[in-house]
Amino acid sequence: MENMMQETKAHYRELILVRIGEIALKGLNRGRFEKQLLKNLEYRLRHEGSYKLTRADSRIWIEAGDDQQTLDTATALTAVQDVFGYVSASPVRAFPLDLDLLDANVLKLAEEKFEDGRKHSFKLEVKRANKAFPLKTYDLAVRLGDLILDHFADQAWVDVHEPELTFYLEVREDFYLYTEIIPGRKGLPVGMGGRGMLMLSGGIDSPVAGYMMASRGMRLSAIYFHTFPYTSEEAKQKVIDLAKILTRYAGDLDLYIVDFTSTQLALNEVCPEDMMTIVMRRMMIRIAQAVAQEEKIPGLISGESMGQVASQTLEALVCTDKVAEMPIFRPLIGLDKDATIRLARDIGTFETSILPYEDCCTVFVAKHPKTHPRLGDAARAEKHLDVLGLTLEAVQKTEKIPLKLADNIGKYDRISPLH
Ligand code: ATP
Ligand code: MG
Repeated sequence: MENMMQETKAHYRELILVRIGEIALKGLNRGRFEKQLLKNLEYRLRHEGSYKLTRADSRIWIEAGDDQQTLDTATALTAVQDVFGYVSASPVRAFPLDLDLLDANVLKLAEEKFEDGRKHSFKLEVKRANKAFPLKTYDLAVRLGDLILDHFADQAWVDVHEPELTFYLEVREDFYLYTEIIPGRKGLPVGMGGRGMLMLSGGIDSPVAGYMMASRGMRLSAIYFHTFPYTSEEAKQKVIDLAKILTRYAGDLDLYIVDFTSTQLALNEVCPEDMMTIVMRRMMIRIAQAVAQEEKIPGLISGESMGQVASQTLEALVCTDKVAEMPIFRPLIGLDKDATIRLARDIGTFETSILPYEDCCTVFVAKHPKTHPRLGDAARAEKHLDVLGLTLEAVQKTEKIPLKLADNIGKYDRISPLH
């Protein structure tokens, strides 16, 4: 009689495990957080292919859609990295609680890891959530450690402190096996933190400011002040492109383009030169806030940073804030320009931001702006300005451009928005 022993072949289902952090959830509604994250991950992945997402035990699982044979793990892992709100993700192999199958699957994974022929230290990390499983954590670790050492005697050695490779095994209703833990973007899922109107110029700072507020769960709209023909069509296109890049992280957003020409010309005519920048900023706030109010958006976001330029001294910020009836979030206020530039490079806005098209602020700029203006100076400078009329006119002439996440990442089929 032939050998009765049938060698068990490696086989498993592929999944992606998305871990939701604990710390970020303090004081927040956990259920709402998880639902929003699931929705945002689904929305991001819908643009990449067919996937199925489920929520269980404070984790999210991503599988191949019902119409798919296999999970496109690499594509999904890259795509979800744009989404705020999770701590880490792992490509996971899941299979029934069968020890022969476990051995086969561990060997298969080890083979892939030792394929390069080089030596690697490793360890096993076993988590036994299923207490009914007969083998204890330690027994499983020893069994699998020995198995790897036997098969890869020339390449593998154990280092429990700083291993190059860690084989993670979770014992639940199935076995879950993986080696990689890929950090997520963290933050809070967009949609958890209300809505904000981002004042988006073509510069380096404001896209980063929008990104930072989105990372705290804020859904964005954006507003750009366009002074055509003093600022070119290219300058406007640059802002549209920046807003499109932001959709990658913030989801769909509406971009408002304000016709700022009449206001700029009026300022130029009636304001003392050294107060022009401050008054211009006050007009921007008034208009942005009027548009925000119309859209039921309760706060503004700006890219200002303390002391960076003349309009960003404390006194200048006080003068601008005075006309605001809603909070102005300035997430870059305490950041160095270097840190902002690093962030801009990381999120992919830097290259677009440094394109050389003029911003309205650089066209109508005073040679010697007042760096320590008083509130009285601002009021006096606006004495001959038709503040209300200009604000109303600008709001009326504002164009709205809805931007979709899909515009930035390729193919787009009509699906429901992120909210
Ligand atoms: P940025 O790099 O974002 O342009 P900045 O350091 O150049 O910032 P300013 O140009 O003085 O600073 O603008 C300060 C903030 O005011 C910007 O970060 C942005 O939020 C807003 N802002 C400036 N110009 C415009 C504009 N044309 N349209 C919309 N918002 C603007
Ligand atoms: Mg600027």
